[in-house]
Amino acid sequence: MPLMTTKPMFDLAYDGGFAIGAFNVNNMELAQAIIEACAKEQSPLILQISKGARKYANIRYLKHIIDAAVEDHPELPIAIHCDHGDTLDLIQQCIKDGYTSVMIDGSHHPYEQNVKETADVVKAAHAAGVVVEAELGQLGGIEEHVVGLSAADYEKNLAKFLTDPVQAADFAKRTGIDSLAVAIGTSHGAYKFSKESKLAFDVVEKIMKTCPGLPLVMHGSSSVPQEFIDLVNKYGGKMPNAKGVPEEQIHMAVTKYGVCKVNIDTDLRLAMTAKIREVFATKPAEFDPRNYLGPAREAITSMVQRKLHVLNSAGKMEAVNKRWEQLGRPLPTFYKK
Ligand SMILES: [Zn+2]
Repeated sequence: MPLMTTKPMFDLAYDGGFAIGAFNVNNMELAQAIIEACAKEQSPLILQISKGARKYANIRYLKHIIDAAVEDHPELPIAIHCDHGDTLDLIQQCIKDGYTSVMIDGSHHPYEQNVKETADVVKAAHAAGVVVEAELGQLGGIEEHVVGLSAADYEKNLAKFLTDPVQAADFAKRTGIDSLAVAIGTSHGAYKFSKESKLAFDVVEKIMKTCPGLPLVMHGSSSVPQEFIDLVNKYGGKMPNAKGVPEEQIHMAVTKYGVCKVNIDTDLRLAMTAKIREVFATKPAEFDPRNYLGPAREAITSMVQRKLHVLNSAGKMEAVNKRWEQLGRPLPTFYKK
């Protein structure tokens, strides 16, 4: 059961030319599709659960679905991560639920408050053997309860929202975090940009100098492939002007820089929605949910496989398992009871 923290994964990913995909799970089909893709590609993975997902699916159901996935694929390195935790209370609940990794997002607070909240979470999580991701800087777009800046505002004032490399060093030192989500020009949701996006690789380089060895995380990193937008629109959807981060830029961030974790949610939603729309449009008599959720699940599997190659994590399963053994199989205290 290589259920693990992200430590063995990031140890190798930092300068190993790859990153771990963190895929959001909301239901059984998503969980099965993600696991299936990673098993096919022998890739380590992070299953992440947002506050909205906990509420939508009921965390008890979601946890059992994930446990089943772990049981089904005992060879796969898997971390269970809380995406955008906003309070210490929620984080403590996640630790009790058996997450191996948590994110506290205090990026919208004034700096000193972000430091304090993050440090408090690190203290509680590390005591339970759970690793912590935090965020500094501001992203654009909208993701569930996380409302960022509009595409136009974000692009106009981009420089002032990016993570400050000097502040990042101070933040990491004072909080003791295990990884840092950075603002380098990515954005949440399907309407990220009004024009072609360009990631701020110069900022990433500076952060790598001020915070040597600190694993970096990219949120809002779906690429919103045009062919899926076209499918959605062809089969009755309405998603004009959707735009994401080009996959070549993501590939560059993970192969040349210390980006260890890349969050992907929107592209999975798109694959699922495009396929369901297609079934509804081409087979209007269909009413068995298995006959549209099944094809949707297959579409998500292909999308995840595609992403594992963009992230270059395909084939890294063995190496990560080996690193996990070397580190003495680190697991949160939850699993040692
Ligand atoms: Zn995010």
